[in-house]
Amino acid sequence: MKKYDYIIIGAGISGSSVAFSLKQRLPNSSILIIEKLEDVGKGASGAAGAFLSPLLGKPNRFKDIVTNALKYSTQFYLQHTPNYIDQCGTIRIPKNKEDQEKFKTYIPYMDFEFQQKEDGYYFPFASVVDSYNICKTFTQDIEKYLNYEVKNITFKDNHWQIDELFEASNLILTTGASLSLIDEKYFNIRAVWGQRIVCQTSSCIKQNYHKECSVSRTIKKDENTNIVSIGATHHRFVYEKPISNDDTQTLLKRANNIITLKDIKVIDQLAGARASSSDFLPLVGEIINSDKTLKEFPYLVNGTNVNSNRFSKYQKLFYLNAVGGRGFVLAPYLAKILVDFIVDDKKIDEYLTLNRVFKKWVKKQ
Ligand SMILES: Cc1cc2nc3c(=O)[nH]c(=O)nc-3n(C[C@H](O)[C@H](O)[C@H](O)COP(=O)(O)OP(=O)(O)OC[C@H]3O[C@@H](n4cnc5c(N)ncnc54)[C@H](O)[C@@H]3O)c2cc1C
Repeated sequence: MKKYDYIIIGAGISGSSVAFSLKQRLPNSSILIIEKLEDVGKGASGAAGAFLSPLLGKPNRFKDIVTNALKYSTQFYLQHTPNYIDQCGTIRIPKNKEDQEKFKTYIPYMDFEFQQKEDGYYFPFASVVDSYNICKTFTQDIEKYLNYEVKNITFKDNHWQIDELFEASNLILTTGASLSLIDEKYFNIRAVWGQRIVCQTSSCIKQNYHKECSVSRTIKKDENTNIVSIGATHHRFVYEKPISNDDTQTLLKRANNIITLKDIKVIDQLAGARASSSDFLPLVGEIINSDKTLKEFPYLVNGTNVNSNRFSKYQKLFYLNAVGGRGFVLAPYLAKILVDFIVDDKKIDEYLTLNRVFKKWVKKQ
């Protein structure tokens, strides 16, 4: 069995970001990333329009996380993958009259500079990234094992064994909507299936738009042809679904409500499952062993408070998931938080950890 200091399972933007941050912090460690698809940056990450734009609204926890992540991750991409981020800005357009009124109430809480433009609000800070090339760059110095689906992980002699093929001192799961490796009832990742289309058009657009869907700025292909990305649809609680012509038509209709794209022709359709938690906040850190924890603290089910530091965790097993529809905004930021925890034992804010979903689940037992 080949041994590694760190093995990461899942090579979407979450796994790729963790691999990159780990390599930066521990350049001499051996790191392997395992992926069941033929390459990194496929899965939901391959389907993503990969727009990075501010979350509007009144202050709340999720908005704070997104704002911090957007600032951090944008800077991170600009520094490490400058060729694969286009900070062209995004115009956010209210969907209807009611939305227009709502937008006005959000103005005092805007976290980013904006200007009123074309029936909406233009955020110059917003960007779109090249999802595949970012994952590719983040993992370029990392050993990869592709086209392999991990079936089983077991902790033996202080190490994680992966299908009796590899051994890891530390194991990190970044498997997105797939939960097959963790047998814990309090895990309730929900899939939200979505489709995006790539089109050619003779129109040229200089910035991204977002209304009922997102339309990207165009990239020039030749003299008369530009490429535009339009996304995305949302099907809650759906893990797998074939590419659908209905979704494509919906996206074309929604895009047409934003801007006229002349001579439009669909050239690609991509789909994937976003992974969300029940409260839409991401999940980062260690994984609680519910059986052991409940054996030790049976009175948890009666609502007795126990400091979560005392919960029993699986040793040397870490997790980054539930980045939902904002994986490209959240992943580099959360990867830093996770790596700081693994390397420096820096505490992760409780509201980002699995403690919160475990505590909710235990109350219902
Ligand atoms: C249509 C669409 C549009 C989107 N648009 C945006 C957007 O504009 N902006 C944005 O920020 N986000 C967007 N998202 C969301 C974004 O794509 C996700 O949040 C992000 O890709 C999740 O990354 P991940 O690495 O956690 O999961 P994934 O990319 O799904 O990666 C998980 C990987 O783990 C692998 N895996 C799972 N189990 C195993 C196993 N047992 N063995 C080996 N490998 C395994 C999978 O094959 C997969 O490649 C969009 C998503 C969709 C579907």
